[in-house]
Amino acid sequence: MPAPALHPMSDSSCIFCRIVAGQIPALRILEDDHALAFLDIGPLALGHTLIIPKNHHQDLRDLPADTLAAISAHMPRLAAAVMQATGATGLNLLQNTGRSSGQAVFHVHFHLIPRREGDGLGYPWKSGSYQAGAAETWQRRIADALAAV
Ligand code: AMP
Ligand code: ZN
Repeated sequence: MPAPALHPMSDSSCIFCRIVAGQIPALRILEDDHALAFLDIGPLALGHTLIIPKNHHQDLRDLPADTLAAISAHMPRLAAAVMQATGATGLNLLQNTGRSSGQAVFHVHFHLIPRREGDGLGYPWKSGSYQAGAAETWQRRIADALAAV
């Protein structure tokens, strides 16, 4: 039997595009025309799930808003299912954009990570503070950048 065809907007060197095409096995949880959810092969917690667009987009910055909406539409039920199935009392929705953030697969994806008290996961959340006037400067810089993207 011939290998299944890649999705129209795909990259043959991309492991997640190859999962979408069925060329690499994955334990699928949900699927529609735009999105696919499957178990993460290297879970931070049992039941760690990924949801991805079927089309190849590198990271959050080049994900079309309507594709994000199509993925997001599954999030409430998928989060509830992951929590119910794993018995988790919490869940982190995580998206890594860029190598420095921890992104290792450059086909945008969202992690649903089941959490429970004392599981030892999570960021060291070392919150800082702004010196007087600095927050307004950052607000302006980001708002100006937003006008240009
Ligand atoms: P990130 O570091 O945000 O790019 O996350 C990439 C995730 O993809 C990691 O959690 C990996 O365990 C997961 N992963 C890599 N290859 C596969 C695969 N073939 N099937 C399922 N998950 C995978
Ligand atoms: Zn891809």
